[in-house]
Amino acid sequence: MENCGARSVREGKGKRLWKKVKYQLVEYHSLPGYLRDNEYIVGHYRSEWPMKQVLLSIFSIHNETLNVWTHLIGFFLFLSLTIYTAMKIPKVVDLHSLQHFPEMLMKADMNKLQAELLTCLPSMPDLHRLGQDFKTSLPTMDMLPSISSWHVKELLYNCLPERFSSGNHTDVCVLHSVKEDLANLIAPLMLKPITRLPFFAFLGGAMFCLLVSSVCHLVSCHSERLSYIMLRLDYAGIASLICTSFFPPVYYSFMCYPFFCNLYLGFISLLGIAATLVSLLPFFQKPKFRTFRAALFCGMGLCGVGPILHKLYWFWGEPEVFHTTGYEILMGLFYGLGALVYATRIPERWMPGKFDIAGHSHQLFHVLVVAGAYSHYRAGLVYLRWRDLRGC
Ligand SMILES: [Zn+2]
Repeated sequence: MENCGARSVREGKGKRLWKKVKYQLVEYHSLPGYLRDNEYIVGHYRSEWPMKQVLLSIFSIHNETLNVWTHLIGFFLFLSLTIYTAMKIPKVVDLHSLQHFPEMLMKADMNKLQAELLTCLPSMPDLHRLGQDFKTSLPTMDMLPSISSWHVKELLYNCLPERFSSGNHTDVCVLHSVKEDLANLIAPLMLKPITRLPFFAFLGGAMFCLLVSSVCHLVSCHSERLSYIMLRLDYAGIASLICTSFFPPVYYSFMCYPFFCNLYLGFISLLGIAATLVSLLPFFQKPKFRTFRAALFCGMGLCGVGPILHKLYWFWGEPEVFHTTGYEILMGLFYGLGALVYATRIPERWMPGKFDIAGHSHQLFHVLVVAGAYSHYRAGLVYLRWRDLRGC
């Protein structure tokens, strides 16, 4: 019994030691061919570990740890943004929107407005006359001075007593707050939010790209077959991010011009499918085609210059157009820098082995991709607000 116990303890120790040796990190030169991708990252590789150890390695330090986490955090960031957008964005009406307020009123369904307001203001005088006043006086955008003639303060007095009961009727500040409250009261009744689908398509594309990339970096070292599948999924993810990034700017810029809308969206969708098919070919993932890959995805992104110039030409002078274009230029800079770093393998090529764990090009590329996608999200919010208020 003792012998047996001692032997099993020895065996247990031996097994643990063997496991420790087996799941040690290895150097580049001892990797199988399919895992050799970047010779400037010299050590800290996992090589053909069992799936359990591979999955657990998300919590240990190796040269892919930060590659996994940069895009996993990016995925959760975009998941949160999607939930936030779905719950919060359609309800946002701020004073900034007032610049299009007269246009909205011109298009307003006054009968519906009257019905909605009557629920709040039971003793409404002639709202119909108010509607006529809107239609005749608003082309001059002369809202503030004429507001008193609409008896709006009296109407709102019933709805918002605590706000106006002490107000001086000639006070400009009070008048301004009446304007603000009127806008916030009436604007949601007239806003006809345009479809969010293109925006959610982009958010979905971004989440797919980030999650697939993160999983790819975690599990590709398991086996040649899994690496083959995951790398292809990773490229499909990048293609889908680029492709769906076109949806919000193209749709919201050209939603009133279906020909151009369909032309641009059809073109980029075909290009996305073509890029995904090319990335299925075995040559595509070879290390020497790194620059080709960067060029292909950059080329796809650069196709966005066409619709953006078109948008600038057609809507020149509208603040939202400059605002969105600013975000799009920022996104282009992030993605462009990311592609450059990816293709040149800076900084590890200058000091091989020094950036194995932190700071190598692929990690910088990941962070730049998340930053570019976030910049595009901000542009998308501006598009939504613009089109919600402007309509077609
Ligand atoms: Zn990656």
